[in-house]
Parts: sequence; structure tokens; C-alpha cells
Amino acid sequence: MTRGARAVIDLAALRHNLSRVREAAPGTRVLAVVKANAYGHGLLRVAAALAVAVDGLAVARIDAALALRQAGITVPVLLLEGVSTPAQLAEARTHGLDIVVHHPAQLDWLEAAPPGDALAVWLKIDTGMHRLGFPPDASAQAYRRLCTCAAVLSPPRLMTHLACADVRDAPYTDRQLERFAEATRALAGERSMAQSAGLLGWPAAHGGWVRPGIMLYGASPFADSSAETLDLHPVMTLSSSLIAVNHVHKGEAIGYGATWVCPEDMPVGVVAIGYGDGYPRHALAGTPVLVNAQRVGLIGRVSMDMICVDLRTQPEACAGDPVVVWGEAANGQRLSVEEVARQAGTIAYELLCGVTSRVAFSTRNE
Ligand SMILES: *Cc1c(COP(=O)(O)O)cnc(C)c1O
Repeated sequence: MTRGARAVIDLAALRHNLSRVREAAPGTRVLAVVKANAYGHGLLRVAAALAVAVDGLAVARIDAALALRQAGITVPVLLLEGVSTPAQLAEARTHGLDIVVHHPAQLDWLEAAPPGDALAVWLKIDTGMHRLGFPPDASAQAYRRLCTCAAVLSPPRLMTHLACADVRDAPYTDRQLERFAEATRALAGERSMAQSAGLLGWPAAHGGWVRPGIMLYGASPFADSSAETLDLHPVMTLSSSLIAVNHVHKGEAIGYGATWVCPEDMPVGVVAIGYGDGYPRHALAGTPVLVNAQRVGLIGRVSMDMICVDLRTQPEACAGDPVVVWGEAANGQRLSVEEVARQAGTIAYELLCGVTSRVAFSTRNE
């Protein structure tokens, strides 16, 4: 029996969250974002489960797209960063990948491409994120260049990315949507603007295609609404078990740096999970952990392979008892990865992506 950290990926939860996408953005096509190893959930298991139910998958880089093709996944796959060399462009054509075009060099490569299969191209317009994309006043010209490329399916598609959609009343988002509408008014082609937050919070951003990521994995994209209120179910449960319970005297300290001092004689549980598994080292004392499906608090510093928890509310707990650090315990009790992330000064995305390769993954509800 393995006593280390385990991640269980619940495909029924994934399918449920996709149904929430469909409810929130009816009539749109869905490009499920599976970049960064499907936000740490395992690219192939997630892609295989979603491919039958979505209109396409999106990844950041070509290696992930090629892995999907190698695994026999035939649905459209979009490279969100496009290609970074002419050789990658040729590879994208060979494997029937869709690409984002966000940079003039990518236009040059498309214009110079030899005759052959045409690909679906998304012209990315920078409406305020200022990361990737053509400035609005350069987008019509880029669009015209794409229209003349034999390697590009006509008409090109149009996209942008929202910087502040997770803040529900950000005028910034309205401004981005206005800029996008203005820049694309005269241009034919399907449109895509919304990631999870845009999809849930900004109906005006739905366009023809939505690009959900985090909500598919069951985490809320908003700081002010929980996954539960959005009816999203956690897909990943990260768990381990108690490997020791110690009775520590009042005044004694726990863990590296001796930062947490016992206020009384008390039972302290040691859990076999640490930052070597992707549990955040900066999680504060008091960060909730489910021991036997009941909330207790983290105490002391997180170490590489272990964390310590305050067992004063569970004096009967013993080595071998189950521990969930985020996700769902056996009795259905949930602990959201967002709550843990908040306690660690980060976001759910980072924690989910950061689960390490020594964690044993398995799948349920296939
Ligand atoms: C990552 C990403 C998404 C998905 O974002 P979520 O916040 O996870 O829904 C959508 N579009 C682009 C361009 C992205 O990079």
C-alpha cells in the first residue's frame, strides 16, 4: 500500500463542469483548455474524456498538441501561442493543428508556406492584456494578409483575451470588449473572447467560441464566488494519510524554524505530503486540511515530504487515517483548492499545475 500523496481525477465531475459551461454559454462552441498538462490533471486522461463532448481543445505549445495527435485524438487542437518557427508551422499543417497568429513573423511564415493543407487560424488582437496580439489598429491589415494566404482557411477567426474578467464589474472588461468590437466590426469570421471568468461573468463576451479552463477543473475563477455557489465540482482530490500522531507538550515547537509553539499539551498529526508533492510551502498555519473528512488546521512550516496538523479536535485520530488536502473526502465533505490557495497567497491554477510527478494519479467515474 502506498502511503504517499495520491491524486484522484473524477471524470464525472469534469463532465458535470462541462455541462455548466453549456448552461452558462448556450449555443457557443467550446474550446476546452488543457494546457499545462490539463492544469495538472493529466493531459491525455482529460483530453480523452472531453474530446467526445467539446468542439476543440487548446494547448499552449506544440509538444502537447502532438501528444494529443499521437494518442489518437482527432478533434481540433488549437495552439494558443501559435508556432514559433517555420518548421513548427509545417508540423502544425501535417498534424492538422489550428493556430493563433499574434505576431508579424507568424504572418511572414504563413505567406511563405508551400502549397498544401490549409489550417484554421485565429488572429489574436491585443485589446488591453498587452501580452500577445496585434494592436487593434494593426489588426485589419494582419487580417487582410491572412485572407491572401493559401495556407489559411477563410475567413480567419478573431480572438482576444480579457485581463480583468474575474472582477465582475471591471470597466476594463467593457473597454476591452468595445475595442474588440470596434477592431473587428468590418471583418468576417468567428469570434472568441471568453475564458472561464468571461464566460460566467460577461455574457457579452460569449461570441461564437468560449475557452474555459479552470472552471472545467471545478475551481472558481472569481475571488468573490466559490466553486460551490457556481455549482462546479472539484475534479482533483489530492490526498494522503497520517503517518504519525505525536503527543507534544505545551511550549514545544513544531517543524523547521520552530515557528509554531503548542499552546497546551496536544496531539499533533504528521501527514505524508509536502512541497515535494506540490503542497504549497507558503501555506499559513491554520490552512484547513481534512483528517477523517473533518477540518483541522495546518501547524508549523510545510516541509518537503510532510506537514503537521493540529489534532486537538480529533484526539482519537491515528496513523493510517485518511487525509485530503483539497478536493472531496469519502463522505462528500469538500475542501476547495481555492481556499488552500488563498491561505498560501496564490491561486488555484498554480496549485493544480504544481502537483509533482511523484504523486500517484488515478481516474474515477470513467
Ligand atoms: C489559459 C487560457 C484560457 C483559459 O483560462 P481560464 O481562466 O483557465 O478559464 C483561455 N484563453 C487563453 C488564451 C488562455 O491562455
